Amino acid sequence: MRFGIISDIHSNWEALSAVLEVLEKEKVDRYLCPGDLVGYGADPNRCVEAVRRLSCLTALGNHDSVAAGREEPPYFNLHARKAIEWTREALEGENREYLKELPMKRIEGGWLLVHATPSEPEAWHYVLSEERGAREFPHFNGAVCLFGHTHYPYAQRMGSLGSVLLDSQKVLLEPGFRYLLNVGSVGQPRDGDPRAAYGVYDSEAMTLEFRRVEYDIATTQKKILDAGLPRILAERLSKGS
Ligand code: ZN
Repeated sequence: MRFGIISDIHSNWEALSAVLEVLEKEKVDRYLCPGDLVGYGADPNRCVEAVRRLSCLTALGNHDSVAAGREEPPYFNLHARKAIEWTREALEGENREYLKELPMKRIEGGWLLVHATPSEPEAWHYVLSEERGAREFPHFNGAVCLFGHTHYPYAQRMGSLGSVLLDSQKVLLEPGFRYLLNVGSVGQPRDGDPRAAYGVYDSEAMTLEFRRVEYDIATTQKKILDAGLPRILAERLSKGS
């Protein structure tokens, strides 16, 4: 089976549709999403509807949770808060309900999907270092934990001799090791590469490819500005920051 992995879409329809165009051509069998379908961008309904149509296995993101009214955003910065208030108004009933019902954790073929961390998913911690990642391995059972939230591609392998960070381009999942993996963000990459990030996992070859695809950033930016969302949310997309 081939799995398409899409995370941190953030209401960016142009980025999501560019990714889905590639994945549909490649006849991916199943879609996995570790959360944050909405927030920041101007197309929340279109993005949620697309994910629902894919019968994607989706975990709850922190922006999804706030947008659906499950929690308040005291920890959000000013721009994120403005965007999430706009999103709450814009979200249509069925899409809000879909987000509201999303579980914190999902299991697929022994993989754990979670937005932030397996240890305390509701605390929305960020895994950005080997030391931080290593502390998460005791908190899941299977070979792989797939997460999002940081908007940085990340691959960490744990074996009997300890853990190591891997080059996040193509990872071979070897028996006897466990993995913490993040394919980066579809709709708001922060690693300096503005192209949409996504992943393809081939369960026969046991490989996870970290992919990028260009999309129409100018149209996404115009929609963000036209919606009256903070200008910085449009500008950062050109820089991938
Ligand atoms: Zn996010």
